[in-house]
Amino acid sequence: MGLSKQPVAVFPGSFDPFHLGHADIISRATQIFPRLIVGILENPSKQPVFTPNERLEMVRSLYAGDPAVEVRLFSGLLVNFLQQMQATVIIRGMRAVSDFEYEFQMALMNRRLSPSAETVFLTPKEEYSYLSSRMVREVAALGGDVTGLVPEPIRSLLEERMRS
Ligand code: ADP
Repeated sequence: MGLSKQPVAVFPGSFDPFHLGHADIISRATQIFPRLIVGILENPSKQPVFTPNERLEMVRSLYAGDPAVEVRLFSGLLVNFLQQMQATVIIRGMRAVSDFEYEFQMALMNRRLSPSAETVFLTPKEEYSYLSSRMVREVAALGGDVTGLVPEPIRSLLEERMRS
């Protein structure tokens, strides 16, 4: 099978902010798929800590040296983004049973919207299984130390943002 026939995978999310649980899933996904597109959802109704463009720049610079990882913004239906990217695989992280019901519903809905879309669930390292962007935002907002939860460049940007 030629390289062009290999499935392209999309890892969608808000990534506000990107944390080490996300990084763990990306490294697992790139062991399986030669090309991974991180899709940052632009959701105008939320009050984000970082704008979509800031998130795009942050994640891009983290993966600047990795040709397997591409980072893009998207809005609207995930299946439309998949089609635009000629991707067929959706990567999702499965942290705990609490993620299951929502993820299961979404996977089935996406399959209904696009029968060729296949959702692949990956589990992170145990130490990241309790980590979420919301938790990181809350800890940082209260002045807690997020070292070891987010990549270092993001930690300093987050602390700076929380001080301002
Ligand atoms: P969060 O849930 O942290 O706010 P997102 O909504 O941006 O993050 O989620 C993007 C994807 O990353 C989802 O598939 C989500 O399940 C996955 N994910 C988030 N946190 C973790 C984690 N700690 N371990 C594994 N996957 C995760």
